[in-house]
Amino acid sequence: MSKAYEQLSGLLEKTMALQTSLILFEWDNETLAPEEAGSYTAKVIGILSEEYYRAMTDKAMEDAIEACEQDLSLTSLEKAIVRETKEERERLVCIPSREYREFAQLTAESTRVWMKARQEKNFDAFAPTLEKVIQYQKKFASYRAKEGEALYNVMLDGYEKGFDMNTLDRFFGELKETIVPLLRDIKEKGRKIPSDFLQGDYPEDKQRLLAVMIGEYMGFDFKRGVLGVSAHPFTTNLHNHDVRITTSYNDHVDSSLFSVIHEAGHGLYELGIADELTQTPVGQGASMGMHESQSRFFENIVGRNENFWVPIYGKVQELFPEQLKDITLKQFVDAINKAEPGLIRTEADELTYSLHVMIRYELEKMIVEDNLDIQKLPKIWADKYEEYLGVRPANPAEGVLQDIHWSQGSFGYFPSYALGNAFGAQLYYHMRKIMDFDGLLREGKIDQIRDYLREHIHQYGKLKTSRELLKDTTGEDFNPSYYVQYLKEKFSSLYGLS
Ligand code: ZN
Repeated sequence: MSKAYEQLSGLLEKTMALQTSLILFEWDNETLAPEEAGSYTAKVIGILSEEYYRAMTDKAMEDAIEACEQDLSLTSLEKAIVRETKEERERLVCIPSREYREFAQLTAESTRVWMKARQEKNFDAFAPTLEKVIQYQKKFASYRAKEGEALYNVMLDGYEKGFDMNTLDRFFGELKETIVPLLRDIKEKGRKIPSDFLQGDYPEDKQRLLAVMIGEYMGFDFKRGVLGVSAHPFTTNLHNHDVRITTSYNDHVDSSLFSVIHEAGHGLYELGIADELTQTPVGQGASMGMHESQSRFFENIVGRNENFWVPIYGKVQELFPEQLKDITLKQFVDAINKAEPGLIRTEADELTYSLHVMIRYELEKMIVEDNLDIQKLPKIWADKYEEYLGVRPANPAEGVLQDIHWSQGSFGYFPSYALGNAFGAQLYYHMRKIMDFDGLLREGKIDQIRDYLREHIHQYGKLKTSRELLKDTTGEDFNPSYYVQYLKEKFSSLYGLS
């Protein structure tokens, strides 16, 4: 190791340690921390965040990065770590520290304001705070923008490199053209799929047994990972030997089941990152969208495929003999694939999910690029739901107030959810060409599918961008047609339309 890199590496160890402790607090907040802990623990988190900001923006870090950039002896991994560190530093350093602190305080507050407004179904109570968050986000984006660059493109780039409004307009355009009419056809002409047996008396302890069984079956390593419970399921990791997923249990057995498959998909990604990358700035998933591609790949393309259930459905019936003994595999699989337009994104089925995201994308563009009057948001939101999904929220809690993201200033984040679906479909069509995908699932050889993804996607962490990963794996740049084709084929057949 060169002297310059050794210097940087020492500094990075400290920032990584600070980041790891922040992640641990986040996990704790969502799972086990008592209700009253809030403001007391927030103080500790505030101090640690500021230490992180200081360590990253410090002159010593700048000098170490510069020295590394001039050092020609660096390995390609070391170069990638330098590049990633520099990017993170620039992201922080372009914001004056006073504004960084003010915004951190604002978002801590705005999340609470949003929660209360949602409880009271009152958008007006949230609007002034949202307005402030938007102003900060625009200002921060303007600090990072290159000459003439649109602010929303800057925001999008922060979550998914190489995906600007042009690419996304094309992507969502194709989606809208196909899915909106398909949904109408299903409503008018599609057969009825019974699914009421998925709801009822599904005891929590049995659901937990099912969750662990499925996690193990997928290859989620419980020696390097844990399964917890939280109101909103999520995945986090300290490094590739400590990956944590959660689910929540209710009387819809498929809700927790598919949360587990989804989060275990995220988990497999993190567990699959190479040892030499973990605990460095490149030791995470390539991007938000690529992460979602893996979780949704397992949730939908694998987990909602009939063949996946062939080797294990008998065990599921054994766990729930009263609830499922008369339900055939086919009935079970049809029910978990049922498509029904609804109001809430997190409860959406596979077919309608990306339309929820598309609506947020269209609105974000209006907010950032066209200075949309915030007061008009609830009505435009409701109109778009009616137009695309045929449903209209009765109040803002079921509409514009349902997601936490805007209260935290995460503008540009939503599209990654839909992109993940599209990345996954592109990978799926490629994999079907080179392996007997359905046959492997039917024979219980899911490990071969997982190992393929580990070899081509997971192990690289942030060494490649999502676009590079797609290109190197499938031989083709991002192509949204696969996703549209996948949805069309699958749901026309499920509903007897073709
Ligand atoms: Zn996810």
